[in-house]
Amino acid sequence: MTLTSPLLCADIGGSFIDCAQVYPDGTLGPRDRTPTPTDDLDAFLTAMADIAARHPGVDLHIALAGLQDPATGICTAANIPCVNGVGLAGRLSALTGRRVRIGNDADCFALAESRLGAAQGHENVLGIILGTGVGGALVLGGRLVTGAGGLTGEWGHGPIIPHIVGAEKTTPCFPCGCGQRGCIDTIGGARGLERLHHWSCGRALDSRAILAAWRNGQPDACRTLDYYIGYVSSALALAVNLTGTTAVPVGGGLSNAPDLIAALDRAVRTRILRTNTPPLLSASRLGGDAGLIGAAFL
Ligand SMILES: [Zn+2]
Repeated sequence: MTLTSPLLCADIGGSFIDCAQVYPDGTLGPRDRTPTPTDDLDAFLTAMADIAARHPGVDLHIALAGLQDPATGICTAANIPCVNGVGLAGRLSALTGRRVRIGNDADCFALAESRLGAAQGHENVLGIILGTGVGGALVLGGRLVTGAGGLTGEWGHGPIIPHIVGAEKTTPCFPCGCGQRGCIDTIGGARGLERLHHWSCGRALDSRAILAAWRNGQPDACRTLDYYIGYVSSALALAVNLTGTTAVPVGGGLSNAPDLIAALDRAVRTRILRTNTPPLLSASRLGGDAGLIGAAFL
């Protein structure tokens, strides 16, 4: 869709609800931030109604750190348990009298970067989050693909690192929050990089220290990054071959490491079928505003 009038957009995470009006040119009005009531649905709905009341006459679009089933409208959000099983858009619309749309925050990230950010001008975009864990979303032909259950683009899940009983020391196959083992989500985010480092050399270091040691050529860190780049770029290469995307904007904390993004990009391009491909991965251009801006395009 093209924006024709301002919208009230909310980026709802497990800690804070960030709100701002988003104008048709993608600029944001003043930010409005309030703690997220996570365990009390009535308190959550009241907080959202209060926010809407401060911004009269505009429809409400939400980037949620969770999922909305496109078929049923039912939401699930691990860090905001009070909205689990709730048809949130319907409840909020009835409460505020506004049209309400809800999208997953990774979906909003991919939409924002494809319309106004690092992937602007690309029709087929795989947006990826390398944050605490791993997320993703797919824009094809300029349109967000939500798919069954709203789970399209979740390249971080599905067991791809084999679980070989007795060979746990040679294969970094860890249990995943989704219930499987060996998902990229277990090694691809900042916590995953730390898990991989600990598995590889027995040392507990935070992700920044691992990356700093890698930059200094420290052998243990270099081996960890060899594993990291090998596994993560292989999964991404499969996703790029499957979807035909020409741009992969990267969000989340690890996107602040341009050398890591560049190394992943080189590794992905050596693993895909297309040849002589210009760079695919690039750090988010919209940063912390991507959720709000992307919500406007839902
Ligand atoms: Zn998983």
